[in-house]
Amino acid sequence: MKKISIFGATGSIGQSTIDLIRRAPGAYDVVALSGGHNVAQLARDAIELQADIAITAHDARLEELRSALAGSGVEAASGAAALVEAASRPADWIMSAIVGAAGLAPGLKALEQGTTLALANKESLVCAGALLMQTAADHGARILPVDSEHSAVFQALVGERIEEVERIIITASGGAFRDWPLERLKTATLAEASSHPNWDMGQRITIDSASMFNKALEVIETREFFGVAPEQIEVLVHPQSLVHALVGFRDGALMSHLGAPDMRHAIGYALHWPDRNALPVARLDLAAIGQLEFRAPDLQRYPALRLAQEVMRRGGLSGAAFNGAKERALDHFIAGRIGFLDMASLTEEGLATLEAQPGLIDASMTLENVTRVDDLARRAVDQVVTQRTG
Ligand code: NDP
Ligand code: MG
Repeated sequence: MKKISIFGATGSIGQSTIDLIRRAPGAYDVVALSGGHNVAQLARDAIELQADIAITAHDARLEELRSALAGSGVEAASGAAALVEAASRPADWIMSAIVGAAGLAPGLKALEQGTTLALANKESLVCAGALLMQTAADHGARILPVDSEHSAVFQALVGERIEEVERIIITASGGAFRDWPLERLKTATLAEASSHPNWDMGQRITIDSASMFNKALEVIETREFFGVAPEQIEVLVHPQSLVHALVGFRDGALMSHLGAPDMRHAIGYALHWPDRNALPVARLDLAAIGQLEFRAPDLQRYPALRLAQEVMRRGGLSGAAFNGAKERALDHFIAGRIGFLDMASLTEEGLATLEAQPGLIDASMTLENVTRVDDLARRAVDQVVTQRTG
């Protein structure tokens, strides 16, 4: 039996992963499941899958988790340190699907045990790509991408050499507002930003898709994971979300990956790699689809894409500053304190504040420094919000 753990088990990716596990009774021995506020779901899944331990990120929820697990034999724990401890428990395959920078510490700890880490948590690559890749190399661990575009690139590269790659094209649906006039974006509400035309995902990544911050993170993720130069990465708007990415080789050939917009595709590929197993995803009927649509992204409309380029040029800990500022700006948008377009300007200001502090961005990439920069970026954004809202 393959021993597995799932971090962020109660979320959209976590639940899709559990769906695949549930379909293969007897194939998996579940070590740890983690969640946050959704303690009832966490307890239900932990009992059903007979996990050794269930961890909620929030100490205030521990009692509730304990009583939900009473008599089940599943251990209960809470807090950031408990998540890291659970990530050190031996497992053959670990899903990293916590949302945000909070996924970094458990991800690093998982790599230290030399496991295979299925990485959905793109924020950890954006914040600390070099640290994550080096930790994997030092411990003989493997990182398999779960983000659909990166899984697509990874699959297009099977049997190929990265030196022969000329460009990597990741597609973007354009999110909820792709057909809105620019002027109207200012007034976009939380409810409008929280629905995606093609993908069913967690709220935060759905809003990030509407603002293209998700694509900005993915561009940086592409650079960190595949080690290509920023100029080699292109974003292509593809409203149908059927072509997930394309890899262009030096002879001009393009290899693309197509599939239904269902994350169980990428999760299943990472789960069964290097094999392919049957998956419960819809098959594409290309004749019925008829046409595939592509267009260039409008950079005016999506300042996040420009910021991603600046972050890659700057290097160092600017990814951590960018992500921290973006996460905090998103918190403020969700709380109704700022408008949709303010997320980009706040992120840019937060990033600039940190870059102006001598030596901060160029400090060595340790978990401690990344965490410090992340925290400072969030505070810088809070300060601007306080100034703006008086
Ligand atoms: P969700 O918001 O649906 O789930 C997030 C998970 O993380 C939940 O289990 C949540 O617990 C938990 N969590 C939230 N905050 C914390 C915290 N501070 N510490 C520990 N755990 C926490 O997100 P998604 O599943 O949509 O996304 C997960 C990751 O995968 C993200 O990095 C996202 O960018 C990436 N991804 C997602 C895709 C998708 O289709 N959803 C596609 C590609 C990448 P609870 O809900 O119980 O509070
Ligand atoms: Mg993606």
